[in-house]
Amino acid sequence: MTFTPTAAKDGTPTVCHVCGMHAVGIGIGKPTGDPRYLCSECLTLLERIREVRRFDPYEMKAREGGMDAAAPLVEEFGADLSEWSEDQVLRFVGTIWRGCADRLHKTLSEGEAPF
Ligand SMILES: [Zn+2]
Repeated sequence: MTFTPTAAKDGTPTVCHVCGMHAVGIGIGKPTGDPRYLCSECLTLLERIREVRRFDPYEMKAREGGMDAAAPLVEEFGADLSEWSEDQVLRFVGTIWRGCADRLHKTLSEGEAPF
């Protein structure tokens, strides 16, 4: 689960290299190439992130978090997504994104690989 590039053409941080949330101006990239900026939450997990060799298992755990976060909205809005308003869809997508990031951060902070 990597999001690159993590900086706009003017160097402004855009998305976190690890979770895709809003990045701050500290990264784990090499002096040349993408700065691999991180968000403030991933910065607190920096040592764990450096230990991870493959993010695939973490991504699967993150997806479970997105699914869990989305379930109450499906219950609230109804199962037929074609009947949802644009605001409901935007809220749904934002909830999934946040749920994925929260589960990824939780999995990383627990310190053991999720397999
Ligand atoms: Zn992050």
